[in-house]
Amino acid sequence: MTGFARPEYRIAIVGGGVIGLWTAVHLARAGAGPIVVVDRGFPSGGASGRNGGGIRQQWETALTVRLARESVAAYRGFGREFGYNIWFRQGGYLFLAESDAEIASLDRVGQAVRAEGLPVRRLAPEQISDLVPALNVTGVRGAAFLHSDGTAYPFPVVWGLYEAARQAGVELAYGTNVTEIGRAAGRVAGLATSRGPLAASIVVNAAGGWSGDVARMAGVPVPNVASRHEILATEPLKPFLDPMVIRLRDGLYFSQTMRGEIVGGLGVHHPPGTRSGMPSSMEFLTRMARAITGLLPSTASLGILRAWSGFYDETPDGLPMLGEDPRLPGFFHANGLGGHGFMLAPAVSRRVARLVLGQPIESAAEFSVARFLGATLPAPAERLTFG
Ligand SMILES: Cc1cc2nc3c(=O)[nH]c(=O)nc-3n(C[C@H](O)[C@H](O)[C@H](O)COP(=O)(O)OP(=O)(O)OC[C@H]3O[C@@H](n4cnc5c(N)ncnc54)[C@H](O)[C@@H]3O)c2cc1C
Repeated sequence: MTGFARPEYRIAIVGGGVIGLWTAVHLARAGAGPIVVVDRGFPSGGASGRNGGGIRQQWETALTVRLARESVAAYRGFGREFGYNIWFRQGGYLFLAESDAEIASLDRVGQAVRAEGLPVRRLAPEQISDLVPALNVTGVRGAAFLHSDGTAYPFPVVWGLYEAARQAGVELAYGTNVTEIGRAAGRVAGLATSRGPLAASIVVNAAGGWSGDVARMAGVPVPNVASRHEILATEPLKPFLDPMVIRLRDGLYFSQTMRGEIVGGLGVHHPPGTRSGMPSSMEFLTRMARAITGLLPSTASLGILRAWSGFYDETPDGLPMLGEDPRLPGFFHANGLGGHGFMLAPAVSRRVARLVLGQPIESAAEFSVARFLGATLPAPAERLTFG
């Protein structure tokens, strides 16, 4: 007798964040059960409940632009499909450039985005001020703006998916640590967990920042690196800021939620890996306060309500890692989503579900773990990986 409803499942998903849950929903609706999602924490305890809620389609590669465009369409329909209001608001994303190199980067991104049919605009400093009068544009040389990018609240996304998975018959085993990935006859065979063992002929690794650890447990190491990122929310202000703003120089990003809080972060270097846990640091608070009050002076007298951190799960080329591992049949990757797994979750989870069901997806090779199994790692392809 174990702590699970049954001793054997067809599919076990490790990780009950937005990727694991959404994949479970697709698979359950396709009749692929029985399915169990195993997570050692609680719903929203991982990055899926710790992110900035940003959803953008401005990317450097056509691959990511396509995933993002499809995901925006899915987020627009989330309320209808799942019955939860995720407060999806398409106020746009505004990227600020201060140097020639950054302007060139925006032009490269603009080309990729326009080639996929999305009308991203290049703005001069005075047009930026028209769009967001509150910004101090001193030193800003230009910007890129796409009006259909936006933000949503992460928590109702997780709640909606949790409820949809439950209703579709998925067993949800939170508070359950996965300690081993079982093998038999050269393929994956199940899990050992803190609640006892379970058999499964398919295991999906949707463990976010911990997916490298889970892959190692399965005996199939991957080059994913967990990196800790910090974020904060201020006291509320009357609504005045429509777009998410990102400054290329330091990765400063912020948006205003519908409650009026400013939510944002910027890159502070922490040693790679998950050992640090997920605290907030004084270095981040100091640097963030300096950066945001310079660009958005109206925040100067605001108090910080909350600050927290979480893990990005980064691949060497900045693209997700999706699909079956040739070294261990039955073991599927659904990870490597960096700082953008929330916004890409709809498209990524649909592709993972198709791969698990043995159905083809576009660009399978570009997303496959096989790209990391050669003598040299691929060069960075998607470099616009913050905010
Ligand atoms: C500060 C910050 C800001 C971000 N901002 C954005 C943004 O604006 N837009 C965006 O798109 N993305 C953003 N991201 C990234 C985004 O949050 C993630 O890419 C996304 O949530 C990944 O979802 P996931 O389901 O793969 O991982 P998670 O939500 O992290 O879920 C993984 C789960 O695996 C579980 N797990 C791990 N190991 C085990 C084990 N051994 N046994 C059992 N369970 C295990 C964990 O408990 C966890 O719940 C941000 C991330 C951070 C940290």
